[in-house]
Amino acid sequence: MKIIMLGAPGAGKGTYAKQITQKYDIPAISTGDIFRENIKAGTELGKKAKGYMDAGNLVPDELVCDLVVDRLQQEDCKNGYILDGFPRTIPQAEALTEALKKQDDGIDFALEINMADEAIVERMAGRRVCEKCGATYHIVNIPPKKEGICDECGGNIILRDDDAPETVKKRLEVYHEQTAPLIEYYKNLGLLSVIDGSKGLEQCVADISAVLESK
Ligand code: ADP
Ligand code: ZN
Repeated sequence: MKIIMLGAPGAGKGTYAKQITQKYDIPAISTGDIFRENIKAGTELGKKAKGYMDAGNLVPDELVCDLVVDRLQQEDCKNGYILDGFPRTIPQAEALTEALKKQDDGIDFALEINMADEAIVERMAGRRVCEKCGATYHIVNIPPKKEGICDECGGNIILRDDDAPETVKKRLEVYHEQTAPLIEYYKNLGLLSVIDGSKGLEQCVADISAVLESK
């Protein structure tokens, strides 16, 4: 089962991707996480990506496409995967379609997590992330058991650099301009399902499961 998650930053793609991973035992691949790991490790890729990310812009396609296509060749992807945060532009989607086509393969589902911008801005203000393992929390909706401390690894929970309110506005603009056209792209391929992201975690997970089991 090969799944793409679409939706604005903060709509919950990463959270749902983790749930699907547990339920269907396929890996979730987050390009945002890959970049953040590279920044932390101080790699060349991390150095190149950081400036774009902190400004709320997309990292250029050429830094992203090969990285993802290579990742999909790894052993753990043989039964499928969930892509969270890729593709994010039409050229990225085309690169993915082409790379898969070469192996007689293709995406099975594109899930759009739909949410109004106002709700996203509000939600992002409360989003926190573990400095050490990347687990995400929300100060109101998904608080850690102990304030400021990650349930999973004991690391510090912080506001992500690019979750600052001004940067969130910029990221939403970039989303509408560059990523939202992918909704039409996957609709035309007959792969799109829209999930109402305002319904809350449990209902969304149930709706996603219903879609994945319909085929
Ligand atoms: P969110 O989904 O909340 O926006 P991500 O962790 O997916 O957060 O992405 C954070 C940042 O990483 C993006 O704003 C962008 O700069 C960069 N990024 C992640 N994936 C891609 C991609 N496929 N193409 C270009 N930039 C990306
Ligand atoms: Zn942690």
